[in-house]
Order: sequence, then C-alpha cells, then structure tokens
Amino acid sequence: MIKVTLRDTVKEFNDGINAFEVAKSFGGGFYKNVCAARINGVNGDLRTVLKDGDTLELLTFEDEYGRWTFRHTASHIMAQAVKRLYPNAKLAIGPAVDDGFYYDFDIDEKFTPDDLKKIEDEMKKIVKEDIELTRFALPKAEAVAKFEAENEPYKVELAEGIADGEEISFYAQGDFTDLCAGAHLMSTGAVKAFKLTSATGAYWRGDSSKKMLCRVYGTAFPKASELEAHLTMLEEAKKRDHNKLGRELEIFTTVDCIGQGLPIMLPKGTKILQILQRFVEDEEERRGWLRTKTPLMAKSDLYKISGHWDHYLDGMFVLGDPNDESKECFALRPMTCPFQYQAYLNRARSYRDLPLRYGETSTLFRNEESGEMHGLIRVRQFTISEGHLICTPEQLEDEFRGSLELAIFMLKTLGLYEDVSYRFSQWDPNDKDKYIGTPEQWEEAQDMMGKILDHLEIPYKVGVGEAAFYGPKLDIQIKNVYGKEDTLITIQIDQMLAEKFGMEYVDRDGQKKNPYIIHRTSIGCYERTLALLIEKYAGAFPMWLAPTQVKILPIADRHFDYAYDIKKQLEAKGMRVEVDDRNEKIGYKIREARLQKVPYMLVVGDSEVENGAVAVRQRGENGDLGAMPLAQFIDLAVNEIETKVIK
Ligand SMILES: [Zn+2]
Ligand SMILES: [Zn+2]
Repeated sequence: MIKVTLRDTVKEFNDGINAFEVAKSFGGGFYKNVCAARINGVNGDLRTVLKDGDTLELLTFEDEYGRWTFRHTASHIMAQAVKRLYPNAKLAIGPAVDDGFYYDFDIDEKFTPDDLKKIEDEMKKIVKEDIELTRFALPKAEAVAKFEAENEPYKVELAEGIADGEEISFYAQGDFTDLCAGAHLMSTGAVKAFKLTSATGAYWRGDSSKKMLCRVYGTAFPKASELEAHLTMLEEAKKRDHNKLGRELEIFTTVDCIGQGLPIMLPKGTKILQILQRFVEDEEERRGWLRTKTPLMAKSDLYKISGHWDHYLDGMFVLGDPNDESKECFALRPMTCPFQYQAYLNRARSYRDLPLRYGETSTLFRNEESGEMHGLIRVRQFTISEGHLICTPEQLEDEFRGSLELAIFMLKTLGLYEDVSYRFSQWDPNDKDKYIGTPEQWEEAQDMMGKILDHLEIPYKVGVGEAAFYGPKLDIQIKNVYGKEDTLITIQIDQMLAEKFGMEYVDRDGQKKNPYIIHRTSIGCYERTLALLIEKYAGAFPMWLAPTQVKILPIADRHFDYAYDIKKQLEAKGMRVEVDDRNEKIGYKIREARLQKVPYMLVVGDSEVENGAVAVRQRGENGDLGAMPLAQFIDLAVNEIETKVIK
C-alpha cells in the first residue's frame, strides 16, 4: 500500500495505482471531468503511477493545465481526422494555446472552409468512437526510424532534436500515433464540443526562411453551451477589434509601401493621441516630473555601454555596418534610458538633487518580425510616456509608490483599470546570458522589489524570465477583447545601468554613491493604449477623448446660420464641433452621426431657432434628451469634458 495526500487528507491505495484510477476510486462521475494531475506541485499526465508519499491534485477544465490538456487532446483528434482524410498531409506540431489549440500541417493546398467542415465531421466520428489514448516510449534511434518509415519529415526533425539518451514518448489513439511529451485525456470521448475556427499560413518553427505550413486553429470545451458562449464572445470581440474598427472609423491605416507595423495616424487618431499626450504631460508636471527631449538615434558606442549591443542587437534597426570599424555606425533607439541618463550626467549631482524625475514623450523603434505585426499593438515604431526617476535608496519605496499611483490614476481616468492585473517579472537564473549584472545583484533587486510590492499590498503573480535584461519589473497586464493578455505599463527598479554609466551622487556623508533608477511609463505606448480604448469603447469614446464631440444637424438651409452660430459658441468653450450642412434628410444625418459614434448630436429647426434652444441626442439607443436652452447644453457638455466622465 502507498500513502497519497489529497486535499490535506492522507489516503491509502494499492501499489501501482495511477492518478486516473485514484479519481475513479471516488465513485460517481467525477472522474469524467478530470483532465490532468498535479503531483507534488508538478503538472503531469493522469497515467502517472503514484509513489508512496506523493501529494496529488486532480485538475479539471477549470484549471489552466487541465484546460491545456483537454484542448491539446483536441489537437490530436484533429490531426487524426486530417490523416484519415488527407493521408499525404505531413504533421508538424499541435499545442494548446490561450483559448484553443492548433496543429500545423504540410499540405499541397491550404484548407478551405469546406475542408474544415469535413475535418470537423471526421473529428465528431473520432469522439463518438471514444478511442483510448495510450502512452509508450522508444529510444531515439527507433523513434527517428519510425518517422522516417512513415515519411513524416517534421517529426524526424523533432525526434532528432531531443537529447541523446532521453526517452521519447508517444501517444497512440487507434490508427493514429503522435510524438508527444505533454499530458492527454484518457480517451477521445470527452472532447464533446469543439469548432475549427480558421486556417492560416505559419512558417515551420516560426522561421521565415523555412517552409510555410497550414495552421488550423480550433477551440474545444466540455459542454456545447460553453462553446456557444465562447463563439458569441468572439463575434462580439471581432466587432470591437481595433485593427478592424480603427480602420473603419478612420483612426489609422497602414500601407504596404511604408511597411508592416508602421501605422499612419489619420486626423481622428492623431487628435486622440494629442489629447492623451497633453493629459499625460500636464499630470506628470503636476507630480514633479521634468521633461527632456533626446535624440532618436545614437552611435553604437552608447549601446555598447548600456548593454543593448550585446543583449538587444537583433531588436534594433542598425544604420550602417556594425562590422566596419572604420565608419561610425548608428542605431535607432529601442529604449530611452541611456539617452536620458546623459541628462543626469550633464553635471555633478548631490543628494540634494534627488529624487530627479525625467519624463519624455519618446518615440522608439523595435525590429520585430513581420509575422508579429498586429494593428496598433505590435508595431515597429511607437511613442511611449517614458520616464526615469533617479533617487537614493531611502527614497526608493516612496518613489516607486508615486510611479504606481500615477499609472493607476491614468488607467482609472481612461476606464481601463478594471481590466488589469499585476505581474512581478523576474530574471531566469537558468539563463544568465540574457542578463547583465551578478546573481547577487539580481537577488538584491528582486528582494527589494518584492518587499515594496508586499508593503503596498499589490496582488501580483510571478513571471520567471520576464524581467528586462537590466532589472526586475512590475508589469501591469491588460486583457484585450479576445481575452489575450499584454503588458501595458511597466515599472522597473535598476541599479545595474546606473553603475555602467557611471551615474553617481555625493551623499550627506560626502561619499560618492550610485543612485537607484526607476524606469517607468505612466500610460504605456500611446498606440497600444489607443488600441485598447477603441476596443473598450467600441469606438464610442468618452466625451473628453472623442475626436468630434458635438455634431450640429440643421433640418433645412434656413437653419444653417443658427447652426454655425452655435458651433462658434461651443468652440469658444474648447469643444470639437462639426456642422452637417449637406442637403440630406435629417433622419439620414442622425443615422450617419450615430455610425461615427459622435457623443452628442444637436438637431436645430424652426422652434430651436425661435427659442435659442437645441434638440439634444446622445449616441446609442434611447439617447433623445429633448430640447433645452443652449446654455444648459453647454453646462452639461463642459462638465462632462472637465470631469472626464466615462460611460
Ligand atoms: Zn500531445
Ligand atoms: Zn528605461
């Protein structure tokens, strides 16, 4: 007999029992919901045989790893269906992803929507057949030989890549076998509800010099109702997708001859960015930030000091030949830090100068792969509310709090705060080459940051290997409409770059010391923030951010003068106003202003002219506020703008 701890209770089982059999021993139907096992804190397969003293957690679809296992098994079912229908298809890889799974196939022609339907039907059969998945292992040479015999070149390459002496595991389900390490469900019957959502091209191993494969995406749930709800959410998300809506509303565009990831801001988008930038710069000034304006490029010399040349060269646009020592070589800046440090180094500093807060509206350049580009979220050139705060060790906690409070203030004002979570991004001690500094420096910096975060009661999760190459960071994460998480704002603590750049201050005791630096942004990249705002508000921006705030709609020609008079009065209050003086029916004008999501429409006709009034309509359904004196509308509108109302 062996003893196994389950939910703090020790239970006895027969030798050789596996996690799935433990689940079954509970009786009832619970075992049908179990997807994977966590044994002594390590995620794994239900087939794992338990040992005396193990602690076992049984994971369902509700757990991240359980969900991963469920959807990954769905990818095997899809691959089996594809092989049944297209025996010549070559298999690449098929992992679970954020909200579903995919499998990459090498096929002659890309799958059409009709093909996907056929594959789905075949998958249904496989689920109905309820085929058991079994695991077996082979030595490397046999694994390679097996795939060579089956004419599966990608699997051969994968098997050859596994270290010598390591066992190679396989999972078989009926007529289908796949090379696979990951956990799987016990049989195909559990994958009740699934849908293949799209087929796109994807390079083998993400490498554009390799062959383009066909990637089929799908998603899977235990219940049809959950799948239904998910697909409805996706439909809604598609309508809000900034990459679609932002173009429809003429906020931004892109063109091939300029390039991917280099958006062109149209007047409406530019207006919103200008409002945001003024808001950020004014707020920072109120909080004691000074502004700098530093160059967009520098010689390689600067990046050699900062470490970018050694740790970040692939991510930079280099102007010139880095290997030609006889000529100066420049690079566009991927970060502002080394530039702003030069402002600090402009003269000798004492503790009396600190804290010193330098803010900059900073345009940066990062050489991302073409395939990574997405609307305003993944771009090669972007502008960030950048800043570096230089302080003494005693000031660090207060200044960190100040930086965080500023970021939270920004997010709340924009209405984005409810969508964020925190990640404490640390270095990966097993991958030291990626970072500058010593393990002791990293431990010290992370220790200190952890203490500050705990002290401020920030509820964070830890991201190992997510740190910048020069220091740990607090990432404020935000989910987009599809539920995908991205970093919006980061606040970092760094001592290593200050040391590299010889930044010092003379302390009270007359000693020269290296200051601490907080790298931070208050609103993140303006482009990314704009993308989130488009999606959050589906283009119906809060009044203070709307590119056009009020549209005046005269009913007939004879009301034009009055309309223009109102426009002047509103503009005198700083509002952004348009008059629709086209020769169109009023119903048509209203519909169009609504489509443009203008916050207020003012309809003016005979009775409004006579009474000095306006008939007010808010965008959206039931927005008719009726007629009111112009002065009343002005009060209402000014108040909504000044208090930055979110609705
Ligand atoms: Zn697998
Ligand atoms: Zn920085």
